[in-house]
Amino acid sequence: MTQELGGFAALGLNPNVLAAVIATGYEEPSAIQLQSIPVILAGHDMIGQAQTGTGKTAAFALPILSRIDPAKKEPQALILAPTRELALQVATAFETYAKQMPGLNVIAVYGGAPMGPQLKAIRQGAQVIVATPGRLVDHLRRDEKVLSTIQHLVLDEADEMLKLGFMDDLEVIFQAMPESRQSVLFSATLPHSIRSIAEKHLKEPKHVKIETKTQTVTAIEQAHLMVHADQKVAAVCRLLEVEDFDALIAFVRTKQATLDLASALEAKGYKVAALNGDIAQNQRERVIESLKDGRLDIVVATDVAARGLDVPRITHVMNVDMPYDPESYVHRIGRTGRAGRAGRALLLVTPRERRMLQVIERVTGQKVAEVRLPDSQQVLDARIRKLTTSLSPLVADAEASHGDLLDRLIADIGCSPRALAAALLRKATNGQALTLAEVEREQPLVPSAGAPRERRERDGERSGERRAPVPLAEGRVRCRTALGTRDGIAAKNLLGAILNEGGLVREAIGRIQVRESFSLVELPEDGLDRLLGKLKDTRVAGKQLKLRRYRED
Ligand code: ADP
Ligand code: MG
Repeated sequence: MTQELGGFAALGLNPNVLAAVIATGYEEPSAIQLQSIPVILAGHDMIGQAQTGTGKTAAFALPILSRIDPAKKEPQALILAPTRELALQVATAFETYAKQMPGLNVIAVYGGAPMGPQLKAIRQGAQVIVATPGRLVDHLRRDEKVLSTIQHLVLDEADEMLKLGFMDDLEVIFQAMPESRQSVLFSATLPHSIRSIAEKHLKEPKHVKIETKTQTVTAIEQAHLMVHADQKVAAVCRLLEVEDFDALIAFVRTKQATLDLASALEAKGYKVAALNGDIAQNQRERVIESLKDGRLDIVVATDVAARGLDVPRITHVMNVDMPYDPESYVHRIGRTGRAGRAGRALLLVTPRERRMLQVIERVTGQKVAEVRLPDSQQVLDARIRKLTTSLSPLVADAEASHGDLLDRLIADIGCSPRALAAALLRKATNGQALTLAEVEREQPLVPSAGAPRERRERDGERSGERRAPVPLAEGRVRCRTALGTRDGIAAKNLLGAILNEGGLVREAIGRIQVRESFSLVELPEDGLDRLLGKLKDTRVAGKQLKLRRYRED
């Protein structure tokens, strides 16, 4: 019954390829697959445009495998991918779809691994080469004939390849292949540079374009949160407390930010790693593997480092820094909601980025709802919920295994069962704050930036962004000094000076905000005059600190 074979059966794929696809459990071809497979099978050149997560790999792998002759031991298909991870992912996909094609070999060719074995595998007749452009050009320099038998070429994520500066390499590669080959190009976007490559090297290409508007985004629940730039880390920590995630990827703009946020989250006990362009390739692969198998739950990444990353466990994407363009936003959130699963995407928006939010909403055709930062009560509730979830499965049989011991401990210690249970809880929760007062103390409330009380700093001093005043923790007051970044001051200088000269413990000092022309420090109200007296002559970076109580209202 053809019905049972699903929509793939009607596409004209080689029966062995079809059998392998059915075995993967795919039920229906995706839109890009439905449209591309017949075109590629018919031997046309093609330009395919579709966003991440739409199933582009199978869209070219299935028809190309169908057109390869496994009996011929020579390279027949070349797939170019922008990064090593993507090359490996595509190679693995080819291997999966070729499971029922004995004699068909796939070789991944990328930098950072020795060239010898790669070249050997090519010469031994791997029919499919999946390569990054840079390394392939290195091979061509050693043996200009390696690509002389290629009949099918695919440029996967072509726009990304150009962004990574592979234009010249691509030209070299095009020259090394027979003119008669079939060329297929897949790209999420079609900037001018891609169009001109297509014009030059593709022969009357057919265009297949999948409108992405709802495609990638519908399965993903999107929300945004207004926050000030300097409160992002605190906001992320709060959100993580209440969001029920399996694996999460957090996007930031810079390499340094990946490291900073990852270490802040690590300090909170999360299993987290940074992923950026500076991290060695094999280490990056290990990070992705760890995220897949649960040794890591959070990856903090830059856009380039996370491009194409396909980890089904990812339930959440957190846009900690705004993406540079709406396309990147769609790419980013496409990391979750893979293959029809539900996903959630959160976007942190600083006041000056509101316009970008509107652009994103226009491009995705969807409203991105505003959510508020969870308050202490919600954080507490989430913690207790997690505790309940982790303990309730144990209740069923823990009494059988530990009940006698419990009786003995109660007798030996001479306490009530409630007292003992409380002691065990304290131990098990490792001193985590589990009362409202404790949670509040631990994380002074970070308000949403969008609140109407937003206004300029006192004295009319501009500091880039307008900021809402942060409520003070109980018993603290804010003090001000006229020293700021223009005087070469950093928070740690102020902290050091106040600790040394004021004789305070670290915990006594709250938030320190350093602006261009002034700084604010939260100090204990109790004994403030005495403290300011001690600090009267203190100098920081060669200048008088002159700390004063700061009254805002
Ligand atoms: P893209 O290259 O467009 O970003 P991929 O080819 O990486 O997308 O596919 C995304 C995910 O969807 C992969 O996990 C893949 O196994 C899965 N997938 C692809 N085609 C189908 C299909 N027809 N049915 C179900 N899942 C699919
Ligand atoms: Mg892809």
